[in-house]
Amino acid sequence: MEHSKQTQYSSNEKKDTGDGGSVLNGHFDGMVKRPAGGTARAAAAPQAPGAESGSHRAATSVMESWKEERTRSVEDNEMSLPSLAAAYTTILRGLGEDPQRQGLLKTPWRAATAMQFFTKGYQEKIIDVLNDAIFDEDHDEMVIVKDIDMFSMCEHHLVPIFGRVHIGYLPNKRVLGLSKLARIVEIYSRRLQVQERLTKQIAVAITEALQPTGVGVVIEATHMCMVMRGVQKMNSKTVTSTMLGVFREDPKTRDEFLTLIRS
Ligand SMILES: [Zn+2]
Repeated sequence: MEHSKQTQYSSNEKKDTGDGGSVLNGHFDGMVKRPAGGTARAAAAPQAPGAESGSHRAATSVMESWKEERTRSVEDNEMSLPSLAAAYTTILRGLGEDPQRQGLLKTPWRAATAMQFFTKGYQEKIIDVLNDAIFDEDHDEMVIVKDIDMFSMCEHHLVPIFGRVHIGYLPNKRVLGLSKLARIVEIYSRRLQVQERLTKQIAVAITEALQPTGVGVVIEATHMCMVMRGVQKMNSKTVTSTMLGVFREDPKTRDEFLTLIRS
């Protein structure tokens, strides 16, 4: 993606920080500041009709729902590794291979361990990421983190989906530590997924955590199940978006978000 002259950090430049994602927010000159009385701000009243019901849910019930989130422990991984490896041995045989030939001897264990890593999002809870990362802040300009690298697994074919996630939100007195947006992406993407659900889960998590005026999430991804089989379109990308609150209701806010993530 081409970089504009404004201050931006791409995930590639920031690899060493551990948390991918470029950052744009209202502090940067001219990027997202609206003229006083801009319509987006006006439409940003918390009680805007048609606002997503999720943002009105009591914080406590949200916390409860996250606590109940299904998780997998490190012990679970150790316990299930032998049976997972055995399953991969069966797969090798089923493919007509000889699991005893030298190159494949350790493959079932490697594959099982790798698959556990690819789905490590089951080992983490959103609630743990948000702890100590939500701040009271009077900032009311759009916050955007774009180009967050994403690696997931298609739940229909168990092959990779990979791409980039762009997130924007309009705070309502609360902001989230910027690196945490990438962590939310990581937790939900490292599970068996469909892109549509992944997009929505990220948007809903941010909505429930911050109750912002609005949230937008856009994912551009390549599905190996599409690229390697079926239509075999090498460069086809699937784009999904979820717009909540003012991002859904106000075309200007949505356009501003979409323009900024494409810049
Ligand atoms: Zn698939």
